[in-house]
Amino acid sequence: MASEPEDDSSLYLTLLCWAGLLIAAAEAFIQPLPVGLGAGAMVVAYLAGGVPAARSALIELWQDRRLDIDLLMVIAALAAAAVGAALEGAVLLALFSLSQTLEHRAMGKARRAVEALMHLRPETALREGPDGVTEVPVVSLVPGDRVILRPGARVPVDGRVITGAGHMDESTVTGESLPVRKDQGALVHEATVNLDGILTVEVTRSLAHSTVAQMIRLVTEAQAMKAPSERFSDWFGQRYTIAVLAGSILAYVGFWLTGHPPDQALYRAATLLVAASPCAVVISVPAAILSALSAAARGGVLFKGGAALEGLAEVKVFAFDKTGTLTTGKAAVTGLTALKGDEAAFLTLLAGLEAQSEHPIASAIRREASNRGLAPAQIDGVRSFPSEGIIGRDPAGEVWAGNARMLDRMGATLPPALAVMADGAETLVLMGRGHHVLGAVTVADEPRATSAEALAALRRGGAAILMMTGDRQAVASRIGARLGLQPDEISAGLLPGDKVKLVDAATAKGKVAFIGDGVNDAAALARADVGVAMGVAGSEVALQAADVALMADDLRKLSAARALARRTARVIRQNLTLALGAMAVLVAGSLFFNLPLPLAVIGHEGGTLLVVLNGLRLLADPIRTSGRQNG
Ligand code: ADP
Ligand code: MG
Repeated sequence: MASEPEDDSSLYLTLLCWAGLLIAAAEAFIQPLPVGLGAGAMVVAYLAGGVPAARSALIELWQDRRLDIDLLMVIAALAAAAVGAALEGAVLLALFSLSQTLEHRAMGKARRAVEALMHLRPETALREGPDGVTEVPVVSLVPGDRVILRPGARVPVDGRVITGAGHMDESTVTGESLPVRKDQGALVHEATVNLDGILTVEVTRSLAHSTVAQMIRLVTEAQAMKAPSERFSDWFGQRYTIAVLAGSILAYVGFWLTGHPPDQALYRAATLLVAASPCAVVISVPAAILSALSAAARGGVLFKGGAALEGLAEVKVFAFDKTGTLTTGKAAVTGLTALKGDEAAFLTLLAGLEAQSEHPIASAIRREASNRGLAPAQIDGVRSFPSEGIIGRDPAGEVWAGNARMLDRMGATLPPALAVMADGAETLVLMGRGHHVLGAVTVADEPRATSAEALAALRRGGAAILMMTGDRQAVASRIGARLGLQPDEISAGLLPGDKVKLVDAATAKGKVAFIGDGVNDAAALARADVGVAMGVAGSEVALQAADVALMADDLRKLSAARALARRTARVIRQNLTLALGAMAVLVAGSLFFNLPLPLAVIGHEGGTLLVVLNGLRLLADPIRTSGRQNG
């Protein structure tokens, strides 16, 4: 069952084995062939069908001290030959070889679905240099280079738009088919397609660190991280293989003692060996998981391994970060009060403080400043206080910006002039020096258009929903109401540590998933049973902390991924039932009903192929953001 890289040689050996079998069968059933031809064909069938399996099984036995199931097949065929049933042994080897070839091709198909992304990378790019635009190999691009993207061109490496605007087809990365508008400053991802517009893009990542490389690394690492049920089938396969071998020897002795002639006893023991081999059990779980991981990746959802997939299927509570996750994270400044009167000076200073923050609030403030044509002030030594705000210094001394908690930290009090602003249902950002408050802005963020639908789909699937935010209660309630959340599903005013505590508390109800954007919530992402990072096309930090990554900013991907995870769990259950059931029937048949060897072989290989094909159904079942979601 060792999965060799599939190549054509295994196909040729299978064909050779079948040719040998057919000639040998013609001799046996139709008419005698010229001397030695039938016997020669039989030897060819045995060698072509048995040697590859025997070779890899013996290497595995020698090097890893593992007993490979393939060895059981070879032993059974040899036993059949020894008692004069050579043709039946050849049938065994031919069917075994065929099913191995098909199985390897099928599994390879699942594996290659992600690697196909590699071929989407262009080979060359148009680099803008001191002496004009030249075509250069993509590997030679380094951060800071500028490349020109014409309509229809694929983005060669991750970058940021410097001039121009247009629409991108990002479906290769996010699984999202609608074009996405990109303006100046927007990030563009490797392997996505520029639909219209002529863009100049500054390279932000080299090829080795760009989106596709990240996705492939994640998925290949994922394949190494086994799911619990996968570990079970490995463990089971190993113990069980030894047991089957021992059991068959015992059965041989048993048949012999109960009066069977030695030849017949050996034949029946060989039949039992085939009937009881757990090939189907061992392949049933990886076939399903590998297919599901590939299908998910093509839909823009990366699972870090089968464990994450199985975990998501079992999640009972979904806890969401608000800002940037349930909401767009593209907040806008809605109000501004400068207590000393000069709005421009106030905003210049505030934008300078926020220049170094990754928080969605900070980018809203920077945008407002740039819309008003203001350049941010130079602020040094900026320190960030998660869920509070930031502190830095300019020539006049220390300045700060943040919420009521920051106000307390600075020993300041809310000036009466700001009371009206502070009562609203928008996020308030205060700025001050020491205990003097200089003014405030309000920032409003809206739920994503897709969030409510995604929450509803998760609810229909039987999950509980929680919203956790560091923002104020009034803001949380306003957003929560728009998303159809009940008051008891909302927790506001949280510090990052509080989110971790709430995640812990929620585990009383079952497995918990935390969904965040990685800003101020990496701890909760890591603590939850399943951490889901969203909108991470390109963000390495969030990818590290999470078990599941949604490449697109669309929570419907989460409900679709959960539905896929549940379908996978169902297919695994079907497969294990089928595999164990078929095995039980075949074993009973060979022990008590004198089942002929060829029938045992057909039942055994047929069962194995059936579970592989059943697992492969998941491959054709990619994640969509419409249609069936509440699986
Ligand atoms: P959420 O949990 O909704 O993602 P956070 O925990 O990231 O929110 O932030 C909570 C609050 O902390 C914000 O609503 C804001 O009041 C304050 N805050 C955080 N970062 C900043 C910042 N860079 N500038 C100003 N205020 C901030
Ligand atoms: Mg957040």
